[in-house]
Order: sequence, then structure tokens, then C-alpha cells
Amino acid sequence: MIDLSVLRGSSYVVLGLARSGLTTVRALMAAGIDYVAWDDNAAVREVAARIGTRFAEPSTIDWTKATALVISPGIPNRLPKPHPVAAAARAAGVPLICDVELLARAQPKNRFIGVTGTNGKSTTTALIGHILKSAGASCEVGGNIGRGALDLEPLGPHGIYVLELSSYQLELLQTFHAHVAVWLNITPDHIDRHGDMAGYVEAKMHIFDRQDERDCAVIGVDDDYSRTVFAQYGKLARHRRIGVVPVALDRLVAAGVSYHAGELTDADRYVASFADVPTLPGDHNAQNAACAWAACRWLRLSREEIIRGIRSYPGLPHRQEQVAKAGEVVYVNDSKATNADATARALSSYRDIYWILGGQAKEGGVESLEPWFDRIRHAFLIGEATELFARQLDGKLPFDRCGDLQSALDAAHARAQAEAAGPAVVLLSPACASWDQWRSYEHRGDAFREMARALPGAERVGKAE
Ligand code: ADP
Repeated sequence: MIDLSVLRGSSYVVLGLARSGLTTVRALMAAGIDYVAWDDNAAVREVAARIGTRFAEPSTIDWTKATALVISPGIPNRLPKPHPVAAAARAAGVPLICDVELLARAQPKNRFIGVTGTNGKSTTTALIGHILKSAGASCEVGGNIGRGALDLEPLGPHGIYVLELSSYQLELLQTFHAHVAVWLNITPDHIDRHGDMAGYVEAKMHIFDRQDERDCAVIGVDDDYSRTVFAQYGKLARHRRIGVVPVALDRLVAAGVSYHAGELTDADRYVASFADVPTLPGDHNAQNAACAWAACRWLRLSREEIIRGIRSYPGLPHRQEQVAKAGEVVYVNDSKATNADATARALSSYRDIYWILGGQAKEGGVESLEPWFDRIRHAFLIGEATELFARQLDGKLPFDRCGDLQSALDAAHARAQAEAAGPAVVLLSPACASWDQWRSYEHRGDAFREMARALPGAERVGKAE
């Protein structure tokens, strides 16, 4: 846990006690720092009470004493409607911050790598952490992925914190600055919290706040919004001598990194091909690897160290995770793909696919996936979405109604083993939420992994979990 004792003398109000909030309370208590805490949910308060949390009912909070409100990033503080405690803090002129800001205040000598984007944050954060660790660097990985910011270990002065940062967290920073800010991409999301797309872009652009001439911004430029961000921030950054590295798909960019079919080029020089790295399939992962490359180059890692790190990346569970192999058929757990967009990434990464899909459907179902149907040998439908998907696939793809995951996997396995004449993939990429049959996408993915490894003739592969 991060030691917050340098903050003694200040006083905090903590709002939201689910995950990061509870860790914040623990860290404040351990350092003997004055605070009061609140959560609207009585059940959550009950859990927090077990560690001896000191509560203050919102109307009793004395804002004249508060240094800052540490608010859980998930709680609205402006849109669609500010939580009353956030509104009261603002009215009293008390700043709103999050746990990442406390980490930055407690570890002011360390360097921070911040990773943001609509998609690929977790992968890129984990990949950068893995490259650094395998090169022998002292680093901790967390934030929005894995452990919360204050759950990380204190590092010596040369240590590096690699943090996944959401737009909600980025709006709650005051002194934090990213030595390397990685901006992957941006597509419409979370509009309820940011008002409109411009608000969402603006919130994410806080990743560049307070950068100076030792720092660098790595910016993916494959969507229109990100190109505008690159043009805007690039100008300012050059003026302030901050490094800026554009990262692009399919085209060479001056003083930047490009990638095509898994091949990376840096400033016109060929780096390496990662097309055969099983844990990073598809162009979307090439974007993640290219951004990780650029970030690690700025940290002065050698070409060999970075390549070795990328090649040995173990992957993350539930994201195109290879879990088993039987003959030439590979079994892939992509349970995190809870919508058609995420499933599109997986379908575009393979050929000869035996596709297991279904669960609780999202708007539009799987209609948008038609461009990839020629890669699919057969589909296996499960869960609530079965009849909707049957209508959407009818006449376009052969499919079976399987009911549950085990029956779907058995059917896909039997068919793939009987039919496939070369490499093929049995892919769970449901394009649906899991809640009709499972507790969570993790629960569904864990079950798939276990079932696939237990199939006749299957050998275990992968080391993500
Ligand atoms: P995040 O943390 O931003 O949700 P993850 O790394 O967990 O992202 O990846 C989630 C899903 O997003 C992946 O399964 C894949 O379908 C898709 N994805 C990953 N990287 C990218 C990218 N660079 N661009 C677009 N989609 C991506």
C-alpha cells in the first residue's frame, strides 16, 4: 500500500467506498491522516465499517476543514447531475480529486506512464508494464486495471508507475503529470457523463496536463478525433519542447511509429514483426504494441529489450485469450467482448472460425458483423439472444441453437475437429452481456477456459490467468 504520511496535516472527505474509496480510507488511516467518509449505499457502508471507517453524514461535513474531496471516479460530479456532496464541495471551493492524485502527491519523485483511450487501455498498460519488468525496471501497474492506485507498492526514486487512466479519473487530477502520456484512440462512449463528444475528448485530454520538456505524448492517429487532438496538442507540445510521437496504421508518419499487419516501423526504419505473437492478434493489438514500443523507447529501453518484452507478453484473461489447442484447432476466450464492436476485432483477427455467441443482446445485435461472415465456418448460439441472432444470421451463416455454453463448445469442438483441414479457431466472442446465464463476463470466460481444457484431445495453452 502507498504510504501517505507526507500528506499529514491535510484533511480529506472520501465519497464512494466501493473499491478505490475503501483503499483510500485504508491508506489514510494507516498514515494517521484526518478524514471522513461517506457512501449512499448502506450495504457498502456496512462493509467499510468493518475496517473502522469514520463516517460523516453529508449534511454534517465541515467543508472549511477539508483539503480536498476524494471522489470515486464512477460517481457523477457534473453530468448528468452532480452528486450533492460534489456540489457542496464545489460551492465551498474545495477541489475534487481521485486516488491517482493522492498517489502522485505521495510519490512525487517517481515517473508516471499514463494510458488512456476508448479501447485497448488495459492491454497497452499491461504490455508496457510487462516490457519494463522483463527489462529489469522497477515498476508497478494499476489504476483502472488490476490494483487501485493506492494499493500499489511504494517505489524507490527510479521506479515507474504505469497507470491505466479513464476519462473520469483524468478529470480529477491536480498535480499528477505523465512522463509518457499514451493516447490510443477515441470513439463515442460515456457521453452521459461528459455531455457530448467534445466533452469526452476534453476530459481525456487532461492526460497531457502539466507535461514538460522531459515528457512525451504518444498519440494514435487512426480516428478523426485523435487526429485533431494530435494537431492541437502537437503544436503546443512542440512549442514547449515536449516530445510527440504519432502512431498510425497503414501509413508512414514522419518522426512517428506505424504498423501494418503486425509490422512496426519507427521513423521510417523497420523495427520488427509481431504478427505471429499469439497474445496480440489483429491490427488493434498492433496499435497497442506500437504505442507500447513508442512509450518504452522514450524511457530509453533498447530495441532488443522492447522486442523481447512484446514477444513474451502473456496477454490478459478474457481478451482473445488462447486457452487450449487440439490438433490444429485453437480455443480462444474473448468473453470480454460484450458488444458487436469488440467481437468485430476478434473476427477480423482469425479465419476459419467456429463462433460461439449469445447471452444478453445489445442494441443492434450482430447485424453490423456481416463484413466478417465469410471468415466463419459455423455459429453456435447460446442464451437469451438466441432467437434474435437466429433471425439476424438466417440465410447468411450456418448455425445451431445450443442453449448453454457447454453444449455450444461441445458442438463447436466436434465440428471443428471433423471439418477443419488446417488451422482453425473455436472462438467464444459473445457480442453480449453475460448476465442471463453468468455472474459476469469473467465468470463466463473462466468457465469456458476450464471447459476447453477438459475437451478430449485438448492441451492447455496460454498463461494469461
Ligand atoms: P479497455 O481497457 O480500453 O477496455 P482492453 O485492452 O481491455 O481495453 O480491450 C478490450 C477490447 O477492446 C478487446 O477485447 C478488443 O476487442 C478491443 N481493443 C483492444 N485494443 C484495441 C484498440 N487499440 N483499438 C480498438 N479496439 C481495441
